[in-house]
Amino acid sequence: MDRPKHIRGVVTGRRDITADLWIVRIRPEVRLSFLPGQYVSIGLPAQDRLIERPYSVASPPDDAELEFFLEVVRGGKLSPQLYQVPPGGTVYIRSLAKGGFALERQSGRPNHFMVATVTGVAPFVSMVRHVAGREQPAPAEPFRMAILHAAGRAAEFGYGDELAHYAKAGKWLEYIPTVSRPWLYPGWQGERGRAEDVARKYLDAGQFTPSSTTVYLCGNPHMIQNMEGVLERAGFPKACVKKEIYWPA
Ligand SMILES: Cc1cc2nc3c(=O)[nH]c(=O)nc-3n(C[C@H](O)[C@H](O)[C@H](O)COP(=O)(O)OP(=O)(O)OC[C@H]3O[C@@H](n4cnc5c(N)ncnc54)[C@H](O)[C@@H]3O)c2cc1C
Repeated sequence: MDRPKHIRGVVTGRRDITADLWIVRIRPEVRLSFLPGQYVSIGLPAQDRLIERPYSVASPPDDAELEFFLEVVRGGKLSPQLYQVPPGGTVYIRSLAKGGFALERQSGRPNHFMVATVTGVAPFVSMVRHVAGREQPAPAEPFRMAILHAAGRAAEFGYGDELAHYAKAGKWLEYIPTVSRPWLYPGWQGERGRAEDVARKYLDAGQFTPSSTTVYLCGNPHMIQNMEGVLERAGFPKACVKKEIYWPA
């Protein structure tokens, strides 16, 4: 039987992170198959059509519900409406997950260096949950992953505690949150600066070399552009850099 283009999903829960960031869980009426790192389109009806936008899935594929880390874009057509959908409310989901932003484990490069701005951490959360759930107590083959997560404010690290927990539990993961406006949170003890300000330090210290590492960049297009320059200067060929750009520069 042909798969319908759209299925319904019911919002089963939400966790507000800040006034404009939230994590939402959605139960699709039909289970979707996807690779950790891929995205699906979510839509809401507006007059006679659906307004849809792509969103990276943060849950792992074996979860019956889909989880997303979302930001309200002021003046945007969909995200302010999505923000209003209460638990029990319905959204529409494209039944086909898409995208090539998945872990490169066939390349022979054992190291994976991820860089995200705010909600751009979602695909990496799906990957970490998948690896942690499947490959206990640790991946059998050589495998290291570092997530450099940048935000303006410390409150924006929606998955900070969970990723720090996985990093503590398994030697395969390092989690580095960095804040570009630390003066807003005087107690902040972590890294300071934008992702592109601190990336080189962690690439070098962790021996994430061009021959051993795939780099993944996700979120803000300006961070991605700047990181491409950092990586070029560090000798990374374009072929081992993967990008998921959330909106046009
Ligand atoms: C593959 C992919 C995965 C994505 N995953 C996520 C995700 O996990 N979580 C998430 O919150 N968003 C994600 N996005 C962005 C999302 O698809 C929408 O662009 C966003 O929700 C805004 O939609 P909107 O209809 O409210 O705004 P629109 O009406 O589409 O856009 C209004 C304006 O805001 C710009 N814009 C869009 N997003 C942002 C932003 N975050 N900050 C500043 N300006 C922006 C647009 O370019 C446009 O100029 C993803 C995008 C892509 C391409």
